[in-house]
Parts: sequence; structure tokens; C-alpha cells
Amino acid sequence: MDFRDTDFRHLWHPYTDIDAFEREPYTCIERGEGVFLHTTDGHRMYDGIASWWAVPLGHSHPRLVEAMRAQAGVLQHSILGNLSHPMAVRLAERLAGLAPEGLGHVYFACDGSSATEAAMKMAVQYWRNVGQPNKTRFIGLAEGYHGDTLGAMGVGFTSWFQEPFKSLVMPQLFAPSPHCTCCAYDKKEGHCALGEPWSAMERLIAEHHNEVAAVMAEPLCQASAGMRIYPAEYLRRLRRCCCEHGVLLIADEIAVGFGRTGAWWACDHAEVTPDILCVGKALTGGYLPMSAAIANDAIYDSFRGGGRRFWDGHTYCGNPITSAVALAALDVFEEENLPEACAPAMAVMRSGFESLATNECVAYQKTLGMIGMCALSDAAGGAELARRVSLKAMKLGLFIRPLGEVLYLWPPLITTPAQLEEIFAILRAAIEAEAP
Ligand code: PLP
Repeated sequence: MDFRDTDFRHLWHPYTDIDAFEREPYTCIERGEGVFLHTTDGHRMYDGIASWWAVPLGHSHPRLVEAMRAQAGVLQHSILGNLSHPMAVRLAERLAGLAPEGLGHVYFACDGSSATEAAMKMAVQYWRNVGQPNKTRFIGLAEGYHGDTLGAMGVGFTSWFQEPFKSLVMPQLFAPSPHCTCCAYDKKEGHCALGEPWSAMERLIAEHHNEVAAVMAEPLCQASAGMRIYPAEYLRRLRRCCCEHGVLLIADEIAVGFGRTGAWWACDHAEVTPDILCVGKALTGGYLPMSAAIANDAIYDSFRGGGRRFWDGHTYCGNPITSAVALAALDVFEEENLPEACAPAMAVMRSGFESLATNECVAYQKTLGMIGMCALSDAAGGAELARRVSLKAMKLGLFIRPLGEVLYLWPPLITTPAQLEEIFAILRAAIEAEAP
């Protein structure tokens, strides 16, 4: 069936330039199988971005499908306000066991944005609970991204996402992005993040700690900003500085959690435990939306007494079917020994981007675990070239979606080294075909 005309008439696509979408070749995904997507016109493509970073275990995984089917026949929904169900209890226990030591209280939300907003509300209410009601502001990183709801937008700062909504978004405090892939200070890689950007963050915390509830950061990789990867040492210093000044640290691992960076949590690279950990996306293997904010004892215990409660709650939080599929996904992670088993694929990711960088139109590249990026130079065409490369790659059998001038790969963790070699061959051919 041809969906094109009906689509253009009735379906409103997120982040999509309507005119460009209607001009460009139309692609409609009919089914997924392992690391592949199949279109309605019979074309097969690698899923180079794990369907918006959510599908670590591949598509149509029989274990996950069966977990959903089985739970749907037992209990499809039940509320968590003053009531419980076994699937949510089991999943909370499992996540508490996987989270960095000390994070034992799992608050379920629905998607990434509702988890980061819950974490922000938790932080503000915590300080109120312990008698410091003035601590209501947040510090974020420039170019950070924590979701599209208004509170989450306020602590992220990707200017083109925010521009139309300036009047609605509560402005927070921002430290410079610590990435050193294309240094704003013109320093060599590795030097920058621990120099000026760190000093600026340290100053912000020292000057504003009396009014700041928490610092919120995407650990090690500012994904939406263009896979801006930064050193673990920055995160170590941030943890120390937050402790010294009585400011909470919220780690937003909605994108990078569950093995994506090569460790189970990106925070593990820095041996850092945040006060609240936000997780989502890969949690259910990409089957159903679910997220969580996982808090420490001090935060949880501050909500006891005096009839207090956390004033937040979404209809589908901790849904039984969603919990069942998340539990099955965690079983598969364990059985497949992920992310350790990805080490050979991660080596291909590294060498693949190093070799792409020999092309003149690549300005710089960087990899972290199963995340790899390269930026196309302005001289070669930047974002416009990246767009053309992505269209060419799709024709050749690889689905990617550039972030401005940045081409990146974020394939399912089950992608084999041989498949990744093939992905790089396609990407290289697409760049060579489109480069000036
Ligand atoms: N936080 C981070 C780090 C993200 O990358 C995203 C989405 O890309 C979100 C939060 C928001 O998640 P969602 O789109 O599920 O609301």
C-alpha cells in the first residue's frame, strides 16, 4: 500500500521540515528485524541510529515479544498510587541492583522528558523537605538536552530547539559545554574541558549554591548537541564540587545508559554516583516508552513524615506490560553479556571513524563505545552535505539521521563487527559520492 499521500495529509512528523519532507524520497518503515529496517517498498537498511537510540537488542526480538504477549493476558494496567503490582516491584528491585551503589529508589515515569522533569521536581521538593526552600534553580551545560517539555527545556540549551518558546521556558544557569571535539577555546583536544569550561562550572556552583537545587548533565556525551564527547575527569570534578557545595547531581543517562558507552552507565567511566540517575530509551529494548528517576536514600527519606508525598505521577508509569518487557530486556542484556560482548564492534567503531577522518571533508571525529561521530567541514558543505550523505546512505542500505553537520552512528548493541564494517563501507561510499 502507498502511504505517501495520506501521510502528507494527516501525519505531523516531529522535528521535520514539512516542505523538505514532501520533496525528498518518501520512506516508510514496515517492519524491523534484528539490526535491519524494511521499508514498505521492499528496501532493507541497517538501523544506524537504533531508532532514536532506543533499540539496543535489535528489532522483533522473540523474547521481548513473548514477554509483552504473556503479560498482556495477565494484567495490562494498574495504578501505582497507593497500590502496587509484581512487575513494577520486580523491575524496581532489578534497576536498583544495576544502578550505581546507593541509588535504591526507583520512580517510574513514561518517557525521557517526564523522568528528567520528575528528577528536577524531586530535587526541589527534597530541598524544601530539609528546610532549604530557596534552592529551586538548576545548572545545566550549554548545548545540553533533557527533553522537550518546558521544565526539561529550561535546563537544556540547544538554541534551535528553544528559540520559538523563549517566553515559556524558565531560564536556568549554564556552564560552557565541556566537550573537546571542536573546542570553543581553540585548544587542543583533552586540554580544554578541564580548563576554562571546568573553571566556569566551578564558579557557577560556588556563586549560586544557595539557590541551586541540582546540576543536571548528560554524562560523557551530549548526544543531541551532536555527540559531543567529554572527559570522565570533568564528571569526577563535578561530583566532588557538588558535594562540597551542597548541590545535588542529576545524571541524565536516558540516551547513554545500558551499555552504550562501553560501561553499563556512562557515570561508571568516572566512578561517580549521582544523587539521581535518569534512565529511559533502551530500558525496554525499544518496545514501549518507559523511564525512571532513581534516587538515593537521603532524597527518598526526606519525603517521609508530615503527610508528605512526591507531587508527581503519570497515568502509565510502571505499566505492567512495559515493566515485563523491560525485565525481559534486562535478562537479554545479561545473557548476551552486554556491553562487554560489544568490545570487538566498539574497536571497529573506533577504527572506522578514524579512517573516515582521512577524507578531506571530515573536520573531526570522535568515538565512545558504540557511539561514533564525525563532523563535515563548512568548506565541504557542512549540514547540507550531511543531509545529502544521509539520503545517499539510505539508498545504499543504511539509515542515519545527521545532527546538523554531524554524521553519527548509534547502531543496536547487537550489531556484529562484520555488519559494522559493512555500515562503514556504505557510509564511506555515501560521503565519497556526495563530497565536492
Ligand atoms: N534526555 C536525553 C539525554 C535525551 O537524549 C533525550 C531524548 O533524546 C531525553 C532526555 C528526552 O527523552 P524523550 O524523547 O523520551 O522524552
